[in-house]
Amino acid sequence: MKLHAVLSLIRDSVSSVVFPDVCYFCGSIKDSKESVICAECRDSIRSVPMPFCSVCGLPLPALENSASDFCGSCLSHPPVYDKARYGVYYEQQAREAITKFKFNASLFNVRPITELLIEAFNRHYADDKLDAILPIPVHQRRLINRGFNQVVTLAKKLSDATSIPLDRTTLVKIRNTDPQVGLPRSKRIMNLKNVFRISCPEKIANRRILIIDDVSTTGTTVSEAAKTVKKAGADYVAILVLALRSKKGG
Ligand SMILES: [Zn+2]
Ligand SMILES: [Zn+2]
Repeated sequence: MKLHAVLSLIRDSVSSVVFPDVCYFCGSIKDSKESVICAECRDSIRSVPMPFCSVCGLPLPALENSASDFCGSCLSHPPVYDKARYGVYYEQQAREAITKFKFNASLFNVRPITELLIEAFNRHYADDKLDAILPIPVHQRRLINRGFNQVVTLAKKLSDATSIPLDRTTLVKIRNTDPQVGLPRSKRIMNLKNVFRISCPEKIANRRILIIDDVSTTGTTVSEAAKTVKKAGADYVAILVLALRSKKGG
């Protein structure tokens, strides 16, 4: 390896310690010490904008927005959960940061996505009273292969920032599923049927629960988890997904 490549590797790995004022994405000097993302990069990360459906949180088509706060789907088939919201679109820097973290769960890589998740929480849930945060689980087999569930790490960071207790054991995935990406909606729903279980219903009954996931396309997985949580007697079930994947690829 050439000397400059070695130096570049060393610089990258220690930059979070030695150069804390450098933007995670573009490497430029940033003004704020609170954020690892510079103002310019944050501006280019698109948050899911208004108007969105007040139940499922998905963007409303322009035609629907003046008539109602609800999308057609929530009007005709109200979801079992009470409220779902998305942080940013799964594209460009957001996608880069989520992917990097999935393959290397370093403290350095968790910082930008934690910031985006906390920002989304503050935007959508600052006034909600919530008793517990439940991350979307992965099946035991996948956990053994990968070694960790990135959603648990994210949920823990949100729990630390909000003081809402993290519950990582009550919502369990009992069946390994094929990846949801690319499947038609009907197949996605079938794929997920009875895939979650509640290990300890007393921890859910009459409580206000927030379910966390990192990426979603239409919320099928989180909806199925919410159904399981609601059936176990939760009083209120809310969902927060860090990134919304566009249906047209991305
Ligand atoms: Zn930047
Ligand atoms: Zn809706």
